[in-house]
Amino acid sequence: MNTIQLKKGHERPYMNGQLNIDRDDLSDDTFLKDGEIVRVEDPFGKLIGIAMLSFEQKTRGWILTHDEQETIDDTFIVKRIREAVEKRTPLYNQADTTAFRLFNEIGDGIGGLTVDNYDDHLLITFYSRGIYKIRDLIIKTLMVELNPDSITEQTRFSDQGKMEVKNRQVTGNVEFPITVLESGVTYSVHLDEGPMTRLFLDQRETRKALEQNPYHAKSFLNMFAYSGTFSIAARKGGMMTTSVDLAKRSRELITENFNANNLSTDGQNIYIMEAFEYLGYAARNRHHFDVILMDPPSFARSGKKVFKVERDFPKLIRAALEILKPDGHLILSQNLESATLNQFKKQIDRTLAEAGRSYTLTDVKGLPKDFPTVKGYRNGKYLKVVTVQIHG
Ligand code: SAH
Repeated sequence: MNTIQLKKGHERPYMNGQLNIDRDDLSDDTFLKDGEIVRVEDPFGKLIGIAMLSFEQKTRGWILTHDEQETIDDTFIVKRIREAVEKRTPLYNQADTTAFRLFNEIGDGIGGLTVDNYDDHLLITFYSRGIYKIRDLIIKTLMVELNPDSITEQTRFSDQGKMEVKNRQVTGNVEFPITVLESGVTYSVHLDEGPMTRLFLDQRETRKALEQNPYHAKSFLNMFAYSGTFSIAARKGGMMTTSVDLAKRSRELITENFNANNLSTDGQNIYIMEAFEYLGYAARNRHHFDVILMDPPSFARSGKKVFKVERDFPKLIRAALEILKPDGHLILSQNLESATLNQFKKQIDRTLAEAGRSYTLTDVKGLPKDFPTVKGYRNGKYLKVVTVQIHG
């Protein structure tokens, strides 16, 4: 087994339990092979843990155990997968929900790997060539444990800094799209058309809240709507919906989700427009909403313009305030890994204070239970959904 040594002065976070090995913390990584099992030592030769290397963006690997006696072999991997499946028993027993995450990377004990369950059709995502080396073992274990209807694999490897996403169907005979249930609502899912599946499983709680409509709202604006899953949930909650997305494809995806629920699209608006353009248009035409949800991507390009969430969220909030009904709610979602919930809350607070608006923080959501996180990997807690009610 090779040994890797942390740079002097870089060991403290690891002694405090950090599990992701940052490439900047290694004294020499030139001899390492993606996927190999290594000893991780502090600069003085003291063992920190045993890691599996996984060459991702900034991450070089994951410390899987601090116990020198524990071997990281097939048995270890199979055990982690079994435990993860076992933990999802309550979700498997929920008849009205058939889609959830089965394995959440280091939160379930192995970094660089996720498995999602869409009504017994599995999507396995491999985040490095290293983790892909144990692909056969992972697939075999999932077959034995779950006997799924189909398995699709997705690889997300970077080649000279450029990320390539590829999907491939591994087992089963299935024609996508399929439909899944979430709190009794039907959503269309496609596991073989690129990085997105039409349903972001991590937003389940947000959709549930919309379906329950605690705001007693009548009108709902869904910015960056994609396949419109928030709009469907809001419609189920009794709201009239408006969905906005830049991508032409959205109209078809949103309509399909309405149809899947036998919901009429009459009076449900879909705008294929750039976000700021729509917000300006709505203000000029006096479209107002009780609830506005904004779930922008962290980074996006539209023509020459670049959207960067950490810089542009305040601008989005200011524009949304112009078209929010008195005492309306803003549901603000951000999934930038490097930003904490506190930073996001402060950004919202500052923006609203500068706009001269007072508000009540009515709800804060993070990842649901099937996306477990661990203290040793802070960026794992990427999702933040903050709801504020604006006074007046
Ligand atoms: N909120 C969605 C996921 C959004 S994915 C959900 O939970 O299902 C991000 C979406 O933002 C994509 O569909 C993309 O087309 C859209 N988008 C990116 N930049 C945009 C912009 N400047 N204006 C409007 N939509 C944009």
